[in-house]
Amino acid sequence: MSAGPRPAAAIAALPVSKPFIAPEELGKRAGLQELLRLGANESAFGPPPRALDAMQAELPHTAWYGDPESADLREALATRHRCAFENLCVAAGIDDLLGLAVRAYLSPGDTAVTTLGTYPTFVYHVTGYGARLETAPYDGAGRVQLAELAALAHANGARLVYLANPDNPSGSFAEPAAVAQFVAALPPETVLVLDEAYADFVAPAELLDTSGDPRVIRMRTFSKAYGLAGARIGYAIAAPQVVETFQKIRLQYGVNRTAQIGALAALGEDGFVARVVRETAQGREEYYRLGESLGLATLPSSANFVCFDLGSRTRAEGMVEELLRRAVFIRKPGGPPLDRYVRVTVGTNDERVRFASSFTAALQALDAVLAPL
Ligand SMILES: *Cc1c(COP(=O)(O)O)cnc(C)c1O
Repeated sequence: MSAGPRPAAAIAALPVSKPFIAPEELGKRAGLQELLRLGANESAFGPPPRALDAMQAELPHTAWYGDPESADLREALATRHRCAFENLCVAAGIDDLLGLAVRAYLSPGDTAVTTLGTYPTFVYHVTGYGARLETAPYDGAGRVQLAELAALAHANGARLVYLANPDNPSGSFAEPAAVAQFVAALPPETVLVLDEAYADFVAPAELLDTSGDPRVIRMRTFSKAYGLAGARIGYAIAAPQVVETFQKIRLQYGVNRTAQIGALAALGEDGFVARVVRETAQGREEYYRLGESLGLATLPSSANFVCFDLGSRTRAEGMVEELLRRAVFIRKPGGPPLDRYVRVTVGTNDERVRFASSFTAALQALDAVLAPL
């Protein structure tokens, strides 16, 4: 058999890697039809009903391309965020925007800085683009070490720094004063990618107002609180020159038409989203209490998931397997010091009850083979 066409050298040198193994694949491997999906921080509460109606009503027009400028959605977002149309770039989710940021601001061989074990898709793009990565670990309490990241950026002349706030997988949140101090501490030529995928779960007053600072690119998504992960749509809020740069390289028709329609309708559903946020906060409290009752510490979370401390990496990996055997899909942080935790999405009330019972049983099974804490 021939070796097939030879990829460009930089691509040939890349390891084959996926940021995530999908629940569909895990289910197939385990021979299971259906999983309780608590591993990808998808919304358990679904899209807002009016978004679903709007998307359904427009499905017959799927023969048409969507508006490549996402103009209606950008108008609505400009009103919502009190910024200009020119401050907004719509893309197929934050994952897409992360790729644009890497392509726009890193050249192969340049350095990017992030926290070891944070959201993996940024790292995936950096590696895939042939750039270098420097990381600082979380502190013992699962918080991002902002001063360490700034120091690394200086030491390496980093072009790009990535911060998720609230963070995934820890759930920790850096207050606006701390983030402002961090931005001020970065080298003047460094761009900060501020991934705010979970911003909807935090009161707006607690978020940094950075509109106008050309060094900060904020990223938002309809995938979490708005329940539209499968539609693939998110946006960047950034200085006009950043948006212009993204416009030069983004896929013109990369945002699907139905997603634009759903996102626009979802923006009119503040009441629904507020209920999702309230129930998520309640679910987090239940998870903290569940951890307490099982003798497992938890990390305080500002997002739609909670991390439980299993005591060691081996036990945390064992827990992921034990739960999969019980048709429950969760994930775990990959890097120390958080690799001894498992991360569980807040489900509906019914899902939380099912999770508590599977988790309790899985812990007993785990304790039978691996020494308890
Ligand atoms: C879920 C998640 C994303 C993915 O967002 P999409 O808009 O669905 O691509 C990005 N960043 C973080 C931190 C996330 O947890």
